[in-house]
Amino acid sequence: MNLLSFIKQAESTLSQVAESPALEARVLLARAIDRPASFILAHPNLELSPEQLHAAKTLLQKRAARMPLPYVVGRWEFFGLEFIVSPDVLIPRPETELLVELAIAFVRKNALETVNIIDVGTGSGCIAVSIAANLPGARITATDISPAALRIARQNAQKHGVDGRIEFVECDLFPDKVEGRKWQISPLSTFHYDLILSNPPYIPTATMKTLEIYGKEPTLALDGGADGLVTTRGLLEQATGRLNPRGKMLIEIESSLGLAAKALAQQHFPSSQIEIVKDLAGLDRILSIERLLP
Ligand code: GLN
Repeated sequence: MNLLSFIKQAESTLSQVAESPALEARVLLARAIDRPASFILAHPNLELSPEQLHAAKTLLQKRAARMPLPYVVGRWEFFGLEFIVSPDVLIPRPETELLVELAIAFVRKNALETVNIIDVGTGSGCIAVSIAANLPGARITATDISPAALRIARQNAQKHGVDGRIEFVECDLFPDKVEGRKWQISPLSTFHYDLILSNPPYIPTATMKTLEIYGKEPTLALDGGADGLVTTRGLLEQATGRLNPRGKMLIEIESSLGLAAKALAQQHFPSSQIEIVKDLAGLDRILSIERLLP
């Protein structure tokens, strides 16, 4: 079978499960033959070897059984970089790129040369790795309660050559100890950060159970408790003593929770500048807290 005939067959199989069967068929085949999708367009008549055909059919079957495409191919793009993903981690979303953009803009605007950053609940590591790749002065602590997620995050840091500037810690929210620090740090700044970042689980439990992704992506990364703000509340409580003067905190939120998240932030950071930043779809997406006092 040649590439084009496989694509035709795959498109018809995927029309039952996928919104964009033509695109997905190309992504699956490209992965199976370990080539970019443009290779398929350039060589439509190339015959698949028996091994390639087997690999392509295996991926197609998984997707036909409704496994999300990123898990099927084990790779996903975020902030212009390719990340390894598995069902142990949340699939990186485009909305989260906004959080990364705001973090990078903050560091550049303040001309910070070295900057202590924490990414709480790092998952695939997409936030921490994208920031480290774009800010040479970034020293990042990336935490997660899931050891399986941390394994993926470490692989992603290595893949992009930034593992020397990210330390990974298995803990719930903030760490109170870090073994084997990778860089020099003054005792005063230990566990204090210029930037606190998080894409916490934020979907209200009842809503989560109605979603297509429920049971496919890790519940740990989605379930924000009864009101969607359980983890965010914990983050805000613990962040007050950890955010440096003039530091910034950016937390991704569910789009219906903007007002509630802002009110919560005002309780914990009464003299900081607090705003809700909208994503490209015009939805409330990032809770931003900037500590202005010296
Ligand atoms: N943005 C994800 C979604 O809407 C949720 C991720 C999260 O809870 N942090 O599916």
